[in-house]
Amino acid sequence: MACRRARRIRTPSPAALARIGLCPLGCVEHATEVGLLDEAECERARVARDPAYDGRFFTGCRTTGIYCRPVCPVRPAHPRNVCFFPSAAAAEAAGFRPCLRCRPETAPFCPAWLGSRATVERAARLIADEGALDGDGATVEMLAARVGVGARHLARLFAKHLGATPSRVAKTARIQRAKRLLDVTDRPMTEIALLAGFRSLRRFNAVFTEVYDRSPTEIRRTRRPTRQVAQS
Ligand SMILES: [Zn+2]
Repeated sequence: MACRRARRIRTPSPAALARIGLCPLGCVEHATEVGLLDEAECERARVARDPAYDGRFFTGCRTTGIYCRPVCPVRPAHPRNVCFFPSAAAAEAAGFRPCLRCRPETAPFCPAWLGSRATVERAARLIADEGALDGDGATVEMLAARVGVGARHLARLFAKHLGATPSRVAKTARIQRAKRLLDVTDRPMTEIALLAGFRSLRRFNAVFTEVYDRSPTEIRRTRRPTRQVAQS
């Protein structure tokens, strides 16, 4: 199926998403058949900054290359420049960077399909909460076995409902964990890398810089003083 948005986007289109069978970018416009939100609903929620939709979709802005939560305080982009994704991982796989204002890594976990797709939900939670794909020797096959399906079936379910492969979702989960740790702790970088699930500091720096276009050190330097809100 030809995707109008895919041709106009200036970001790379990853082979993993091309295999999804819907839109090669995993955008919501072509995902309605699998029970996700449709584009008009996303657009209404985005413009209204509706908190009820937080975590259910993410908006990529093609002019900035940034993706946001529906509740982002930044002035909404022109409708013709946006594209919607069912997960942060899908937005990142399509080449968008996380917004530093609305911080997608803090969005609640409540994708549009929640409640109807227990297998995907369980596997995604194992990835996000337990780092099920982080350790040495951790494989998608093992994860699939834990939720009682085959690896290929799990990959298909992820593509359909999250617009990204299990590995891509795990990569985004590591980046998000690291970003939260950078924002709320003063732990040394090596410790953050390991706690977030990266196998080395070098890998952490490389992946983080790839996604944010800034090093972890630069991100920490620009963080807002949210930690100092605790008052007695
Ligand atoms: Zn934002």
